[in-house]
Amino acid sequence: MSVLIETLKQNRNLPDEDFRKILLSEEYDEELKQKADEVRREHYGNQVFLRGLIEFTNYCKNNCYYCGIRRDNRNISRYRLTKEEILSCCQEGYALGFRTFVLQGGEDPYFTDEKICAIVSEIHRQFPDCAITLSIGEKSEESYQAYFEAGAERYLLRHETADIDHYGKLHPAEMNAAFRQKCLFTLKKIGYQVGAGIMVGSPFQTVEHLIQDIRFLQKLEPQMIGIGPFLSHQDTPFRNEKNGSLFLTIKLLAIFRLIFPEVLLPATTALGTIHPLGREMGLKAGANVLMPNLSPTSVRKKYMLYDNKICTGDESAQCRQCTEQRVKSIGYEVVTSRGDAKNFPRKN
Ligand code: SAH
Repeated sequence: MSVLIETLKQNRNLPDEDFRKILLSEEYDEELKQKADEVRREHYGNQVFLRGLIEFTNYCKNNCYYCGIRRDNRNISRYRLTKEEILSCCQEGYALGFRTFVLQGGEDPYFTDEKICAIVSEIHRQFPDCAITLSIGEKSEESYQAYFEAGAERYLLRHETADIDHYGKLHPAEMNAAFRQKCLFTLKKIGYQVGAGIMVGSPFQTVEHLIQDIRFLQKLEPQMIGIGPFLSHQDTPFRNEKNGSLFLTIKLLAIFRLIFPEVLLPATTALGTIHPLGREMGLKAGANVLMPNLSPTSVRKKYMLYDNKICTGDESAQCRQCTEQRVKSIGYEVVTSRGDAKNFPRKN
């Protein structure tokens, strides 16, 4: 047994040089995973929370170098779901036991604040016992406030990388890390449960960047941390870049579980794409959330953030069933509650 991992568990922190050691060596991997699972069980038992993901638009005004739905990709057919279509996804999801709906999309100016608020408040009205999560990018404080008042309670906005220069290598000049980070603090201030996160193994990423990501997350104290491997997409400037590593992603999940015992950690679709059992490995290393797809089958292939994305041919019911089986097969249990973060004081 190594003192290092036990210290990480006890202190929920380590000096930079120790994180560097852990990140650079395979020596600690087994113990990291074991300890992360222990801590996850202390706080969340063997429960796995579900979120139904509705990818409601693939239009995007941004041009992130890694992302398949970037503005300059002329090789995809663009779609938007109507409010009615989104509501029917929720209906189907509700019947399948989902109590959280995640509305994710590109930054699509068609969906004005007014439209987003109308959609959110209608979901809130029809499904008052469900949590509504938005993942629609960088907005003004006023916009975030309006969505919150309409009934959105959670917001996912990965910071992608905490390092300003690294951020500049992943995004065109019109985007900047400082604004994205500010958005996250604004969301917290408004009262959202907030999710930040990164792509593991994105081009130009170093271990020093990952340590900066840890420090940034310690400052932000998010309720959720979404991480998955970077995966290249053929119609982006990063088409020839190497995919991120499965093992480094698993290691980071375990590290985040030990630093943030009560955080919600999804085993992401990207993790399931890079390896057929990637999500199961993630769950065994501290992850406790899965986000099965609830989008209509007809649009799934159009929301290709990266090549070979899984579950794009399935019906929602199939995804739900498949999720249940995968979770059971490794001795955990799917729960259909809202699954709020334990480090978040809920008012009611
Ligand atoms: N427009 C929203 C949603 C973006 S898609 C927003 O800005 O938050 C959600 C996440 O998918 C991104 O934050 C990014 O981390 C991830 N992603 C995008 N392209 C990817 C790729 N090629 N490989 C892995 N993850 C990717």
